Amino acid sequence: MTNQQDGLYRAESDPAWNIVAAGTAHVTLHPDDRSPEFIVVSGPCPRCTHATVHTEPLVSYAGALGASGVLSRLLHRRAVEAGSREVEVICACLTTHPEAGEQKGCGASWVLHVEWSG
Ligand SMILES: [Zn+2]
Ligand SMILES: [Zn+2]
Repeated sequence: MTNQQDGLYRAESDPAWNIVAAGTAHVTLHPDDRSPEFIVVSGPCPRCTHATVHTEPLVSYAGALGASGVLSRLLHRRAVEAGSREVEVICACLTTHPEAGEQKGCGASWVLHVEWSG
């Protein structure tokens, strides 16, 4: 692997990172695998190799909008069904990359396919 730990910040994606990340990412479903409400992806960034964590909400709109009654139940039921999601992960490592400015991470983004069985 090339040494890019101190690489400049650059917003970019590369299909090869999707493959690398699929092999190194650690995916956890919360609160549990059967009715996930959010996905947490952790692991090394395939570009800069620093540790990064990404949280993908699955049903956040239910709570955010204060949904109640039928709508809330519908949303909740959807959440407990088996499903899959293409999660776009953006590097948010804690290392300051040159030229990152206000941005976190190195600018890399990649897509991880996550599946779960309800
Ligand atoms: Zn980094
Ligand atoms: Zn990175």
